[in-house]
Amino acid sequence: MALIVQKYGGTSVGDTERMKNVARRALAAQAKGHRVVVVVSAMSGETNRLLGLVKQITDRPDEREQDQIVATGEQVSIGLVALAIQAQGGKAQSFLGSQCRIVTDSTFSKARIKSIDADSIFRVLDEGRIAVIAGFQGIDEHGNVTTLGRGGSDTTAVAIAAAIKADACEIYTDVDGVYTTDPNVAPRARKLDRISYEEMLELASLGAKVLQIRSVEFAMKYRVPLWVKSSFSDDPGTLVCPEDQAMEDVVVSGIAYDKNDARLWVRGVPDKPGVAAKIFGALDEKAIVVDIIVQNPPHDGVCDLAFTVARADLTKATDVVGKVAKQLKARAVESDDRIAKISIVGVGMRNHSGVAAKMFRVLASEGINVQMISTSEIRVSCVIDPKYTELAVQALHTAFGLDGPAPVAAKKKSKK
Ligand code: ASP
Ligand code: MG
Repeated sequence: MALIVQKYGGTSVGDTERMKNVARRALAAQAKGHRVVVVVSAMSGETNRLLGLVKQITDRPDEREQDQIVATGEQVSIGLVALAIQAQGGKAQSFLGSQCRIVTDSTFSKARIKSIDADSIFRVLDEGRIAVIAGFQGIDEHGNVTTLGRGGSDTTAVAIAAAIKADACEIYTDVDGVYTTDPNVAPRARKLDRISYEEMLELASLGAKVLQIRSVEFAMKYRVPLWVKSSFSDDPGTLVCPEDQAMEDVVVSGIAYDKNDARLWVRGVPDKPGVAAKIFGALDEKAIVVDIIVQNPPHDGVCDLAFTVARADLTKATDVVGKVAKQLKARAVESDDRIAKISIVGVGMRNHSGVAAKMFRVLASEGINVQMISTSEIRVSCVIDPKYTELAVQALHTAFGLDGPAPVAAKKKSKK
């Protein structure tokens, strides 16, 4: 008998029929003797709809009120899924984040979980019920509703799994696992049986949509065995787990791309100590995550700084940087949201050389210009013109030996 957390994303609870399917799966696991916690997202499209309503009122919403609104999507899902379980003869109880005391800090829209009341969950499990818990939301110490950032239900699920010491956390989604890259872009992408926490973390931060970054951090920290599976099939999925020797033999495990970044330039900033600290300190104060940073060599006592942020943060970042730039008497702040970031990831890079050089060669041979570069021990990222995204991903996928068998050819359409 095991203790299992199953998380179902928006498409898996996209309508009431699909919710009945979730109920069947949860009950099937319980029938095998497991104790089951189900974490659910809002029905697909719902969070966007709610954010759309906010936007109809204002472009710069008070984030407390915005969280109050967008957290409601999950409330509907938990109630309906609990009812679906009951309708199939099972026992279930739903919980809002506040009802099992998922306590977070007060960073609205990006809150971090601090603690969870595991006992409240165990009380329900011990009565033979399935606990159905709202993803994405919590409360802060003052009782305000908070949310964990887009895709945050994954983090709720892993945090709960860590808190109750679950044997496994299963993330059910609309794909059957983690792929070498997006199969919509590279048809010869392969599903991975296993991937290390670290690689998954890089891929998630680089734009692979399958898991929220925080959820992988949590899983890595607390060693939660994390499965990515499809709620529409019985495929075993991909296991995200600690790294081992076999993984190190593979140089590149995955390729990610991200078209959701934007670039900011601060032109003509004085070349003296403390300038970068001021600019990035101000961004950090607003919890804006900065990714690639490039500083040009100084010329006449000034230099240009370029960096990328999530496109969703661009307005906020431009405001923040604009103020600092004024204080610093910088020449100008400019932004550009037509960029794409392509990244190759693999723990094997640690003990193989020439990986970055090969990436640049592949891009060059396709005539793609590299605009910015950043690296970590297990990753190389390049900013390129977004119109070459697909081409770059495909070329790199082939060059690094990731191509699987060609997909079965679709039936030929008769020519018109
Ligand atoms: N409903 C939230 C979102 O759409 C959280 C989630 O789906 O994980 O971002
Ligand atoms: Mg998701």
